[in-house]
Amino acid sequence: MKVYFQEVKYHEKKSGKCSVCGKTCTISKKFYQTLNPFNKNADGTIKTHGDIYKELMIQIKEWKKIPPIHGKCEDVSNGNLKPDTSYETEMDRATKYIDKYK
Ligand SMILES: [Zn+2]
Repeated sequence: MKVYFQEVKYHEKKSGKCSVCGKTCTISKKFYQTLNPFNKNADGTIKTHGDIYKELMIQIKEWKKIPPIHGKCEDVSNGNLKPDTSYETEMDRATKYIDKYK
């Protein structure tokens, strides 16, 4: 038998100028915790809906202080990808491929 614990979750959105590319950016994020016997407070008591709500609100507040970054730009700033300008899209690659074999 599977036991499903109740999730306390909030979908939050923030928008502003991307701190990497400077373009308008809106991102959303899900904040959640589950109500379960192992999810405890620092004092050892099991977290209630209210406890989780308070924690999530703090996380959301902190998250909203940070300017939004596009998913792709975040990869760039982490050094995983080349900057936007030289970034080849699937479409570019496909077009080049077609041109080559015309
Ligand atoms: Zn960006």
